[in-house]
Amino acid sequence: MSNCKLVNDKVEKLIASLTPELQELTDRGAKIISDGGLVAFPTETVYGLGANALSESAVAEIYKTKGRPSDNPLILHVSSIDMAEKLVKWNEKAEKLAEAFWPGALSLVLPARDIVPSKTRGGLATAAVRMPNNAIALALIKKSSLPIAAPSANISGRPSPTEASIVTSEIGDKIPLVIDGGQTIFGVESTVIDITTERVVLLRAGGVSKEEIEATLGEKVFAPQTESEVRRSPGTRYRHYAPLVPLFLVEQDEEIAESKKWFWIGTKEARFSLTKPLAEKICLDYNEYARELFKTLREAEKVGAEIIYAEKPTEVGIGLALQDRLVRAASKR
Ligand code: AMP
Ligand code: MG
Repeated sequence: MSNCKLVNDKVEKLIASLTPELQELTDRGAKIISDGGLVAFPTETVYGLGANALSESAVAEIYKTKGRPSDNPLILHVSSIDMAEKLVKWNEKAEKLAEAFWPGALSLVLPARDIVPSKTRGGLATAAVRMPNNAIALALIKKSSLPIAAPSANISGRPSPTEASIVTSEIGDKIPLVIDGGQTIFGVESTVIDITTERVVLLRAGGVSKEEIEATLGEKVFAPQTESEVRRSPGTRYRHYAPLVPLFLVEQDEEIAESKKWFWIGTKEARFSLTKPLAEKICLDYNEYARELFKTLREAEKVGAEIIYAEKPTEVGIGLALQDRLVRAASKR
């Protein structure tokens, strides 16, 4: 059996596992998407705000609803490798990575085919494709037979939502349907890599680690270095989000570590520690931390904390993604 068939079988199984209620909701959602509307839905990374990626007007609604700069391209979500190949010019690296990580938190930037509207790709000649590892997301794509463009389901500049209730309170009144699939697994967005050239370039750290990608390809993955490589990553031009509470990134700190919790929120200050609860050691398994980070930023705002001190994560595994998000949220280092 080819690996491609294995991926398809996995997708079928995931969709079949949905409860009757979620089957009905995803039927409804797929109809809304086919009709050019917006649906918010869970993925394994964060909640997405989805629309037909092939429709200029549907995609325009995404940008409008989020207040997203029009030159920040959207990721196209697919439910099969076949679907991806219709959107971008596939290559050998893409095949290897999709077989290893799809469905999963890895977005592949490749030369776009003409079928992808310029609006979806923020005017670039390339497009990012990914197969989400979430039954609801996959069902929406499969049932509408459309690739779904979906950035995070928040107002641009706010932390990405990891629960449906956050989506509902932030943009619920602007869209016809928010599908609740519980808390997301990763809590940070997908990894974005550019595989259009010989050199593989990491455009955004995320759920799949650089080390895992390097091991699969058997080659090094580079940070954007040349001017043209930096220009390939429009999303990183923007401050990812600006928390209402000023955030300061600090080196590992005894006082912060003392709370022995990932997050400690008071009214004067909040502390984000990298010391695992009840353990003395700095913990490099940041998965739990990642799941709670964005939600905790919103909680710190709600409580009215005046300042956040966050320890700087080590660049290992998902730590690289956490460091990226915190650096971009920080007022000062
Ligand atoms: P979001 O949808 O908010 O998770 O952001 C999507 C990320 O993917 C942003 O950082 C975009 O810049 C990036 N992205 C999407 N499409 C492309 C592309 N064609 N080339 C480079 N980066 C892309
Ligand atoms: Mg986003």
